[in-house]
Amino acid sequence: MDPFHDYYGIPWYVFIGIWSFIAIGLHVYQVGFIIKLIRLGKDDDRFNSWKQRMKEFLTDWLGQRKVVEDKLAGYAHALIFWGFLMLVSDVIDLGTGGLFLKFLELIYLANIWNLIVDIGYTMAGVGILFALYRRLIVRPEKLKDASMEGVFILFAILGIVLTAFIVEAGEMIDDGKSHLNYWEPIGVLFAIQMENMNEDFLRTFIDASYWLHMILIGGFLIEIPQTKHSHLIGTIPNVMFQDHDPIGAMRPLQLDENDVAVKTDDLDFDSLNLGVNKFQDFTWRQLSDGWACTACARCQDVCPAYSSGKTLNPMQIIMDVKNYGKKHGSLLLAGEEPEETMVDRFTPDAIWACTTCYACVDACPVHIEHVPKLTDTRRHLVMEASDFPEELQNLFNNLERNSNPWGMGAHTRADWAEGLDLKIGEPAEYLFYVGCAGSFDDRNKKVSRATAMLLQEAGVDFSILGEMEMCNGDCARRAGNEFLFQMMAEMTIESLDSVGTLKVITACPHCFHTIGKEYEKYGGKYEVYHHSQVLNELKQEGKLNINKFEDKVTFHDPCYLGRIGGETEAPREALGGDLIEMERHGQKSFCCGGGGARVWMEEDADKRVNEIRAKEASDTDADCVAVGCPFCMTMMTDGLKEIGDGKPVKDISEIMLENLNTDNNSDPLKTNEIEPVSEEI
Ligand code: SF4
Ligand code: SF4
Repeated sequence: MDPFHDYYGIPWYVFIGIWSFIAIGLHVYQVGFIIKLIRLGKDDDRFNSWKQRMKEFLTDWLGQRKVVEDKLAGYAHALIFWGFLMLVSDVIDLGTGGLFLKFLELIYLANIWNLIVDIGYTMAGVGILFALYRRLIVRPEKLKDASMEGVFILFAILGIVLTAFIVEAGEMIDDGKSHLNYWEPIGVLFAIQMENMNEDFLRTFIDASYWLHMILIGGFLIEIPQTKHSHLIGTIPNVMFQDHDPIGAMRPLQLDENDVAVKTDDLDFDSLNLGVNKFQDFTWRQLSDGWACTACARCQDVCPAYSSGKTLNPMQIIMDVKNYGKKHGSLLLAGEEPEETMVDRFTPDAIWACTTCYACVDACPVHIEHVPKLTDTRRHLVMEASDFPEELQNLFNNLERNSNPWGMGAHTRADWAEGLDLKIGEPAEYLFYVGCAGSFDDRNKKVSRATAMLLQEAGVDFSILGEMEMCNGDCARRAGNEFLFQMMAEMTIESLDSVGTLKVITACPHCFHTIGKEYEKYGGKYEVYHHSQVLNELKQEGKLNINKFEDKVTFHDPCYLGRIGGETEAPREALGGDLIEMERHGQKSFCCGGGGARVWMEEDADKRVNEIRAKEASDTDADCVAVGCPFCMTMMTDGLKEIGDGKPVKDISEIMLENLNTDNNSDPLKTNEIEPVSEEI
């Protein structure tokens, strides 16, 4: 018994034809509108490395690699997704009155196709039930205030699944007899329940199910481009054209034909785009993010700015791109400029709240790039609008005049090394790039000494730049002053090249990232190591004999070393001993609040990120908090003080030095004539 007959004297296919025309027409019109909007964006050449892109597409889109990282919601989504891929061709069959199946019969694929479609509907149905259970029963915090739209859509999809089984079963019943087709096992179960129904009722039941099925499918097609379900289409280009540059590496002001940054003196200011304020200032790939977002809120869950009550919500930033396009799309496509700008839409408070920790990007299952949208609008605010937090003016002045954030005299840069008898400005196997905090901040100077002493103890041939060292410009760049950053990068490269050392050691993950991952575009190619990597290797080679330490230690992963730098093991191996992990650690660590130049900006007392992280450290049973970053040192020390926890905060190098077992039993702290580094915080 099938639904393909006349209704009120009109053949079924007339109704289907009209409905398909409306649904497909509206779908195509809306998708076309979105494509035109995305094409307003600037160029971003991601049409390369096709082999890798295909692999990523297969694992990340088809395989749902990142989606299933969230167990319940992820697997529910994956079941619905895979199920839909398997069942989608059934729409063609039902829309053509079974012609598709007849064609498959001719090529002997009908049975296997029936089985695949049946499994597809089953998987989608199970996924929907899981998703409804999560939304209506489990109700995680982030879904408590969610609109009922999501639930409504889930019920609609459940309706599509159930009506498909009813129609499938109906085709197995004829004249009150069942002709069960075991290639459609779930359909068989439905048929067994339906075979004893009154024939008139059964006919109406099957017809109604068919039309409900087709109405829901068509409605879904119309709805897709308007809601978060635009991700069904948007994720394809998003996953396929994901960023292949190192995570966290920002784009230079201008690139030449070799993909190298144009030197400061040669920049063409007339054609430079100093950040983003208009929709069309974004690249096409930044715009396509808006329509790829699944609204899963994973980025929101991990964002330190959002968690501390600031205005920034990374998911909202992505929604803002899409909603701005939807609201002003007609005007934009007509070549006119809406009064509202992207900065107005994001709001300056949200733009300045980001710590550039990249937790959002890392968490996003569909490779959405939140951070460049925020740093690009910062660029506009600093370089075009000159509208930025006033504390940053001081920072920029100090960087310009003295090449360090504190404005200290460059001649005092190597004072921390007094009495250590280090090579300064001479060629050596390694260059120890100390960084501004390690050179000028009293607490972090101790870390520089500890690192240098350990390297000396292990017999490493290294030098420092001393007064020739410049700030690498990281904080200027993250704060939106790209022009200042570029000048500082060019000077630092000149200074690094002057000693001819290509292997660089640094105790600062921001220097590690900027010099190691970003300088290449400016002509500086170095092998950059975080001090924990070198110290760990020396320990493993037996060149540093470190006793197992007595204290229980918890290690706070710096974002620019762990998540962004990809190094989570070396610090732990270097420390050894009884490490107690905080709940969020390694790649999923939580920011200290100091990155993205936030360490130089005012923070509302009731919205401090460092206190959240300090509380997490405090909740462990550890006696001491280990860090591997000068900003983390400051933020964690302040955070612990604020919450009234007296746990000491020590750098990895300090803990290693305290536990160093020297061959000649001499105390390196004494031979180097400095105060014990762990004495006080
Ligand atoms: S980078 Fe960090 S602070 Fe910025 S939006 Fe993403 S998660 Fe939030
Ligand atoms: S941006 Fe990514 S992580 Fe955030 S809600 Fe959208 S899909 Fe989820």
